Amino acid sequence: MTAAFTPETNPTPTRTIEPTETPTPTPLPEPTSTPTPEPTPVPTPNPANLADCRPEDSKEKEELYAEPAVGTRKRPLPYLESEYDGRAARNTKLSVECQRTIGDMVWYRVSDAGESFWIPQIYTSDNPVPVVPKEAVPPPVQQPPEVRPGGGNKIVLTFDDSGPFAQGILDAMAQYGAKGIFFPNGNWANANPALIERMKNEGHLVCNHTYSHANLTTLSSDGVRYEISNGAGVGSCNLLRPPYGAHNASVDAIAAGLGYQIYMWDIDTRDWARRYDSGDQEILNIVLSQARPGAVVLMHMHVDQTSEALPKMLEGLKAAGYELSW
Ligand SMILES: [Zn+2]
Repeated sequence: MTAAFTPETNPTPTRTIEPTETPTPTPLPEPTSTPTPEPTPVPTPNPANLADCRPEDSKEKEELYAEPAVGTRKRPLPYLESEYDGRAARNTKLSVECQRTIGDMVWYRVSDAGESFWIPQIYTSDNPVPVVPKEAVPPPVQQPPEVRPGGGNKIVLTFDDSGPFAQGILDAMAQYGAKGIFFPNGNWANANPALIERMKNEGHLVCNHTYSHANLTTLSSDGVRYEISNGAGVGSCNLLRPPYGAHNASVDAIAAGLGYQIYMWDIDTRDWARRYDSGDQEILNIVLSQARPGAVVLMHMHVDQTSEALPKMLEGLKAAGYELSW
């Protein structure tokens, strides 16, 4: 049995429209009566537009001095959106012709060496301001900011030299959110600015491994200085990893003078030697078996096995609870 369909009655109530009651529209308020008062416009006098003194202008001072900071450059005037053309040099004695208040700032019509112009009060002084000779400041030495990697439960992964596997290494590091330290050769870094930018952008440190991967112990002092000064990461990292790990007291002293600390490693994968028959598994085993908190791992960007070992290495270190960061 089907329920009988009862059509609904028209839900719209019938409206009786009284023809006499045509609704009249409420008149809009007059546009002149704005609810919020307009802010008083700030006068923006431009000294160039100010004319000569007028009879109503006053004069309270005979002379003024240009404030030392005025200098000769144009300077924006705070809250006036105008600028004083900075005509008066520092501490120039100025004869006041008259003064005028515009907005909440007093302007002085002054003359200096036969030339008359307007100068705002904020750039004047009643007395000459003694010029204190500046103390001799030693020239700034470009010291890289200090970096102290390691500590806590960190394990520091470092990648040296140069090579076609930098991209793969960066991809793996990004995949596992790991931040390492790259020690590229300076000449390679110069030739691969996009990779260097990527390293920095992804939170890695880019540090110094000399310009041309030189053995610093075989060079003159000037040679050592040149190799370090033209290395990667100058100005952003103070770590120097000498190529071949070769350094001596003389190298150390020059490096320290340039603001660098020698930064070696704890776990040497010897990945560059490519002596592993088992390929990336051997590199993986070395790192995972020797890992300890604060350890620095040495690897190289030109070794394909390193790039291949990295995902499993990062996964293993993470699982062991290490923080993969510098
Ligand atoms: Zn190297």
